[in-house]
Amino acid sequence: MSKRKIIIEPDPILRKRSEPIEKVDSQVRKLLDDMIETMYEAPGIGLAAVQVGILKRVIVIDISKDEKKDPLFLINPKIIFKSKNKSVHEEGCLSIPGYFAEIERPSECHLEYLDYNGKSKKIKAKGLLSTCIQHEIDHLNGTLFIDYLSKLKKDMIIKKLVKHKKEIKKSIL
Ligand code: ZN
Repeated sequence: MSKRKIIIEPDPILRKRSEPIEKVDSQVRKLLDDMIETMYEAPGIGLAAVQVGILKRVIVIDISKDEKKDPLFLINPKIIFKSKNKSVHEEGCLSIPGYFAEIERPSECHLEYLDYNGKSKKIKAKGLLSTCIQHEIDHLNGTLFIDYLSKLKKDMIIKKLVKHKKEIKKSIL
């Protein structure tokens, strides 16, 4: 396993649509292993492949709060049901460090996906897991949580991220 670099907004790749995986092989599993390591190290509770620069429909999630890890690997995830009931969670994103916002989404969703071994699976998610799945699937379609905010708020966050990126570059030089 090796850690990969997380791409920070603004970056045009984060706005691209990811492509489905055709075959779950050792290369895909290597990507999943790298992604989960990168996510744990960050630390975060969800990561989409596009966030490490790979435009494939692959997500890793672990919402377990205790020491015991409980990773969820989602390949080609497809939401087949969204509840009419909505709920609000405070969301953050590894590609938007330092910013959090309350986002409203369907409180429950059902999902079809391929697991780590390429086996077809279904899951019914609610609460934090449902929010996390929807946030990560948004990534696969080029959407970030700040897109749900007002233009003013979103522009302000992006402006600060640009400034932050410039400062990092400066300190490397
Ligand atoms: Zn995110």
